[in-house]
Amino acid sequence: MIYLKSDEEIDLIKASAQVLGKAHAEVAKWIKPGVSTIQLDRIAESFIRDNNGIPSFKGFGGSGRIPSFPGSLCISVNEVVVHGIPGAYVLRDGDIISIDCGVKLNGYHSDSAYTYPVGEVAREVMDLLVATKKSLYLGIEKAREGFRTGDIGHAVQSYVERQGYSVVRELVGHGVGKGLHEAPEVPNYGNKGRGVALRDGMVIAIEPMINLGRRSIVQESDGWTIRTADRKASAHFEHTVAVRKHHAEILTTFDYIEAVTANSSLMVSA
Ligand code: MG
Ligand code: MG
Repeated sequence: MIYLKSDEEIDLIKASAQVLGKAHAEVAKWIKPGVSTIQLDRIAESFIRDNNGIPSFKGFGGSGRIPSFPGSLCISVNEVVVHGIPGAYVLRDGDIISIDCGVKLNGYHSDSAYTYPVGEVAREVMDLLVATKKSLYLGIEKAREGFRTGDIGHAVQSYVERQGYSVVRELVGHGVGKGLHEAPEVPNYGNKGRGVALRDGMVIAIEPMINLGRRSIVQESDGWTIRTADRKASAHFEHTVAVRKHHAEILTTFDYIEAVTANSSLMVSA
């Protein structure tokens, strides 16, 4: 079931996304060698709660022997693709760190992710970050009525594979609204003209997860952490986007992040 959102609902998601964007920026201020990932998680959680939001990820999922997600952020360093659990790990010069965050405000979620270089990062890894960010915007261009989810996936996949990178298949983008993960699925691979038809009022998270090496992934025994099988780097950028008749409307924002990272070593230009 795909829920089409009214303009009023889209405004509520935008309001949620404002808190989210500012939470990301608060975290970005602290990204540097010597900082632990649990410290970053605490900064995000405090900021979100101080602004009357609820961290969407905290307590998410879990069943049987798998605990629900303990963090407000998914923090995925280097070869970790997504769903890394914040903890004792201390950032080092040359790492890359993906910060994925969701906020629920007034009943509506927003979801976005950004990958930062920490200090001096290898050239090939920096290029991966730039290409992944660029691929997000190429996917977003197709998020308007008349296109299908396969057009988004094709735009992402064709761009990154041309540069020798690979697309993670097992994890995909998704609808966003009252639920953090709604239909439809939005794969980062696909064929033009295939998949779910996009309609005005659909709100979707587009989130390319792009690997420097091969696309295979494995799940760690914590039940959450997803890393590349070849242990090469992986990058992740995400926006929540409203499908409109003639354009894609990006509801989340990197503006607050990029006010912090401008002219610093954290900057990813694409
Ligand atoms: Mg996310
Ligand atoms: Mg998402």
